[in-house]
Amino acid sequence: MFVSTRRTFLKAAAAGVAAPYVFAQAPRIENTQLGDNLYLLTGAGGNVVARTGPEVVMVDGGLAQNAGALAQAVAALPNSGPVRTLFNTHWHPEQTGSNERLGMAGATIIAQENTRLWLQQNITWPWNGQKFKKFAKIAQPNKTFYDKGTLGSGPSEIRYGYISDAAHTDGDLYVYFPQQNVLAVGDAACGQGWPVVDWWTGGWIGGIVGGLQRIQSVASSNGNKDTKIVPGRGPVLSVADIAAQVDMYGTIYDRLNQMTNKGRGPSEAVEAKPAKEFEAKMGNPDEFIRRSMESLWAYLSPDA
Ligand SMILES: [Zn+2]
Repeated sequence: MFVSTRRTFLKAAAAGVAAPYVFAQAPRIENTQLGDNLYLLTGAGGNVVARTGPEVVMVDGGLAQNAGALAQAVAALPNSGPVRTLFNTHWHPEQTGSNERLGMAGATIIAQENTRLWLQQNITWPWNGQKFKKFAKIAQPNKTFYDKGTLGSGPSEIRYGYISDAAHTDGDLYVYFPQQNVLAVGDAACGQGWPVVDWWTGGWIGGIVGGLQRIQSVASSNGNKDTKIVPGRGPVLSVADIAAQVDMYGTIYDRLNQMTNKGRGPSEAVEAKPAKEFEAKMGNPDEFIRRSMESLWAYLSPDA
């Protein structure tokens, strides 16, 4: 069975059929209801939250190649209308792929000011050479803030704010839907595997811990423990999940900090296995540890 499947695949690949077929396939966008008029959409490259009504509000927009399919999936939600507001939780392509489409349609694109600044320049990640092109003006956030803000009023009010700890980048934001008690936090929390530590645009391991603590306090500010927290990828998290993550990343941060103080570098940190007891649950941590260690060096010597 396996052999024949593989042979079939190789034949198709050799004929040049398999790859184009895969790339031409439309992404499968699925939705899960989080509360009244509030949905999680998955399959566009990153988690997307949409609040439906006469004016739809979206948090993040998936990858650019999936923007059309995502727009269709949002339009097909019950009680949906035109998307008037899009939040970018940070500048990464998994969050900003609908900016151009929605910017051209006249939507308000809200981001923390640092996110707008990153989208205005070309970026190359030093650890793998990956390049990101700056955005055209129409695709850039057109409403930025520094600290916090609100959208709408009364029962439909939405509160948003800066996660200033530099958990993932230096422009992370959260969006809180009080009516549904749902908090979208982008990649400041990770629901699946180890997070990307993008120290090139400001993230660092200490910020992961600080950002998770901030998420805890925003989530508990309403006085109950039932807040649903939507990370940038992976399943919805509970307040208890976030508390467990604070402990885990706090432990790893302490260990890496001690090694940094002893002058150890990223490779020595990877060899020391500072995430050993978490590997069975979380998977291979080597890249996460390496980036985290680099992030500590970048954080402690910002001008180097
Ligand atoms: Zn990200």
